[in-house]
Formats: sequence, structure tokens, C-alpha cells
Amino acid sequence: MSDTQDAGRRPAEAVDYDLVVIGAGIAGMNALEVASQYLPRGARVMLVERRARSGGMWCDTYDYVHLHQPHPMFTAGDVEWTLGAPPQHLASKPEILDHFQRCHARVREHFTLDERFGWAYVAHEEVAVGDGWQVEVQVRPLGGDGGATTVRARHCIRAFGFEAPRNPPLELSSTAVASLSPDGGGLLGPAAVNPDKPVWVVGGGKTGMDTAHAVLSAWPGREVNLLVGRGTAFMSRDRSFPTGLRRWWGGKLTLRTFTDLARRFDGDNEQEVFAHFMRRYAVTLDPGFGQYLLGLMSEAENAFIRAGIREYVKDYLVDVVDADGVPMMVLRSGARRPVVPGTVFVNCTGYVLRGPTHYEPYVSPHGTVVTVSPNAGIHILTTFASYFLTHLLYLGKLQAVPLYEVDHHALLAANRTAMPFVCMAQILYNLLLILDAVPMSVMRGCGLDFDRWFPLPRRIAAGLHLDRNKADYRAHCRRTLDRVRARFGIRCGVLEGRREAA
Ligand SMILES: Cc1cc2nc3c(=O)[nH]c(=O)nc-3n(C[C@H](O)[C@H](O)[C@H](O)COP(=O)(O)OP(=O)(O)OC[C@H]3O[C@@H](n4cnc5c(N)ncnc54)[C@H](O)[C@@H]3O)c2cc1C
Repeated sequence: MSDTQDAGRRPAEAVDYDLVVIGAGIAGMNALEVASQYLPRGARVMLVERRARSGGMWCDTYDYVHLHQPHPMFTAGDVEWTLGAPPQHLASKPEILDHFQRCHARVREHFTLDERFGWAYVAHEEVAVGDGWQVEVQVRPLGGDGGATTVRARHCIRAFGFEAPRNPPLELSSTAVASLSPDGGGLLGPAAVNPDKPVWVVGGGKTGMDTAHAVLSAWPGREVNLLVGRGTAFMSRDRSFPTGLRRWWGGKLTLRTFTDLARRFDGDNEQEVFAHFMRRYAVTLDPGFGQYLLGLMSEAENAFIRAGIREYVKDYLVDVVDADGVPMMVLRSGARRPVVPGTVFVNCTGYVLRGPTHYEPYVSPHGTVVTVSPNAGIHILTTFASYFLTHLLYLGKLQAVPLYEVDHHALLAANRTAMPFVCMAQILYNLLLILDAVPMSVMRGCGLDFDRWFPLPRRIAAGLHLDRNKADYRAHCRRTLDRVRARFGIRCGVLEGRREAA
């Protein structure tokens, strides 16, 4: 039974599905892949996705996007890539979407998968059945007149992701300049708008840097400028993923880096920790840049962009106006700068953690629904959150392990400098709890783990170090996170009613 609204007529214990997964992005794929390790072959699973295919935000993100991390570390569970490229290769959008097909095919093989592409989740309700609980999930087709359908399932995993929107072109008053979205075409290729004119990339985060890199690669020598706000620094990819023999002695495992930064951060001293990050780990166009939002970049990309751009400006664009026939940038500082007619502005002001969203805790009161969402995050990356939460769900530990949940939306709004270090304290704290709760096979099977890059002896040494110090680290991170909650007044702690960690 699937398209049914008469849930009331079925026997109380009957379920339509073992599992309903909402969202076919990489978080949803992780949920499905992990569930396939616990549910028998042929188990009935529904996959509900607004878009027409799996891939999530990667379906719509700008064409020249590529992964920050080496491609093997972006996957579902432990699904291997079949690209045949060296591991350090940063996969392009078509390559990423191909890998989604592969992950998708694997779960199709395992489950009886009822795929609802072009459908949306509407609501859910936990229902008491005998001694336990099930969940009724309402879904509906998008477009057409199809009404909502309610299905009963043992569990539902809602992997909504960051709900990254498409970035529209900036609304500019000037009629003499071009305003483009990175997602909308017109920047590269034969249909490029004004390819002989200068470009202003508005935003200095990952999209801004990708855009500057793409334009400079397509037109070496073209005038490209960046408007970077406070300026964004990146974690050095060369340090996190050294290549060749340097894997044995060079660089630093990401867990060790995060531990170093989390230990230094006490909930109040983000400026000091940021300064340490800049000295020790950062790649940046300018040592005076003011934020780090967990992105990765290599020295080579940074050098290429720095050598290619005309200038970067630490300010924010308010508008471009026409003044006596001359287009003029108006900046938040009050400065005004003329640009040549035809200049191309590209909106790279960001996608993630943009707007407020509806809150639901990462696990529902009766444990039937898991929500993977940045405002109820147990890890800033939804991939890891989905991987670990699904394991905990099927191991029956989800309600017992007192994970710290953080509202990452509110955190970013409260303090951008502190944000990455709070995330690191949370990752370390929750990871230590999870390590104690799950079999080692869960850790070994986590293909997302950046530290798989390094040879086994280095990973074992890092694991032993963590184990020796776990009581201290756990206590420190907990104090830090409690301080963050008190200081910023954001959701940051154990879910209400849950057992507190020792
Ligand atoms: C420009 C950009 C670059 C990035 N680069 C990297 C990178 O290099 N490496 C990295 O690890 N991360 C990167 N990220 C972060 C990235 O978003 C995550 O790693 C990951 O892809 C998010 O996956 P997700 O499944 O959580 O979300 P999404 O990919 O957004 O998937 C969620 C899916 O849920 C669906 N959905 C939502 N609500 C409903 C509903 N009510 N009903 C039905 N379906 C619904 C959506 O349609 C969507 O397809 C980047 C993000 C952006 C914006």
C-alpha cells in the first residue's frame, strides 16, 4: 500500500514502509546507505525529493563548482568512486552528479525503493502502536492537483540540507552594467555577457574564489576584482591533504587540527583562536582578512587568484548607480568607485545558513523521526550528521546518547568569528560520545572521514592521543559549549529531557 489516505483502516501494527527518507542530497544518500546496513534486502523504503533526481544542491549549483576536499571523502557511507582520477582530484559538478547515480543505484539494489521525485514532505505525526511508536508522514506531489498522501513508517529521516537557494543576480540601479548569478549562465562559455569587460566578484567565500578562478582560467589577463567584505580565509588544503610521501610525515590530520583549535577556544576568546588559525593553518589573499567559514583552499589556487586579480576591496556593495553617465559602485563604508560601462557584477554572496527555518530537534520525542538540519545540527556538515544519526537510530542509541545540538543558523548570526571554533568544539564533543556508543566498524566505515587520507599508523597515533585525553577534551568542550549557550543565548546543548553527559 502506498498512495493511500485510509491509514485508519489498516491493522494497527501494519506499516507501509520500514523507512521514509526526505531529501535525495548527500545527507539523504548517507541515511539510505547506512540504513541498508541494518534493514534486510527488499525492505520497503520511500524516498521523497522535490527535485527531479538525486544530487540535492549540486543539481543547481553553478557549473564550475568543484569539491573542496579530495573526491573520495565526499560520498555516502563508504561507497567508492569509480572516477579513476588521482585521489587529490577535486571532482567537478558532472563528476559529483555521476557519483550520486552510483550511490543511488546501490540503495536501489538493496531496498524496494519507492521513489517520489517531484514530491514534497508536508508533515508528520508520531503514533502509538502497541508498546511502541510509528510515524505517519504526509507527502504530496508538486504541481498538478494531486492531494497529500499519508503513509505509515517505522522511521522517517528528514535530510532537508541547507536549503541552499539559487543566488539571483544582484538588483543594481545602473542600466550600464551587467548583473549575473553564478548559477544562471552568462558568465562563461560562448554566451558569456561582455567577455571583454572587467568583472567584479561580489563575495570572497568559496563561490567568490571559484568564480574568480573560473573567469581568470577562461580569460587570462581579463580584469577581475573581488569585493570581499571582511575577507574570508580558508583552511590550507595542502596541510590537510599533503600528497605523495608527505602523507607519512607532512601536514596535519583534520581531527588533530580541529582538536588543537577546539582546545584553545573557551567560548570567549575567538579573536585569539582566529589569530592562531591565521598563523598556523590559513591560506588567504591577505593576512588581515577577518573570517574563516570552514572552507578549504590550496596554496596554488590562492596564488593563481592573487596573481590574476587586479585588486580586492574589503567592503560591501550597496548598489551601482549611474552618475552623470558613469556607473558608480556605492559601498557600505560610504566610498564610491567608478567602473567602466559593461562591467559584469557576479553575486557570490553565499548560499548556506541564509534564512531562518522551522525548528525540530534532531530526534523526535518518541525516537521515530530523525532530522538532519543546520538549525538542529549535531555536526556542521550534514553528511556526517546523517551518517552518525542513522547508525545511532538503528543501533537503538539515538535517545540515550546525550549529543549536543547546535543551532548553526543562529550561531552564524550571533558571531561569525566564533562560529568555526564552536563547530569544532561540538564536533569533538559529539564524536567522543559517539565513539563510546558505536562499534568501531561505524568509524571504520565512514568514508567521509578526511583523515582516511593519511596512512594507518598516523591515524592510529591520532586515535590513541584522543583516547588518552578524552576525559579532558570532553570536559573542556562541554564547558566551552555551555559558555557559548550562555553568551549568545542560542540553542546549544543536550535536548530537553535527555540524560546529561557525565
Ligand atoms: C556552493 C556550495 C559549495 C559547497 N561545496 C562543498 C564541498 O566542496 N564539500 C562539502 O563537503 N560540502 C560542500 N558544500 C556544503 C554542501 O551543501 C553539503 O556538503 C552537502 O552537499 C549538503 O547535502 P544535503 O543532502 O544536506 O543538502 P542538499 O544537497 O541541499 O539536499 C537536500 C535535498 O532535500 C530536498 N528537500 C528539502 N526539503 C524538502 C521537502 N520538504 N520535501 C522534499 N524534498 C525536500 C531538497 O530538494 C534537496 O535536494 C557546499 C555548499 C554550497 C552551497
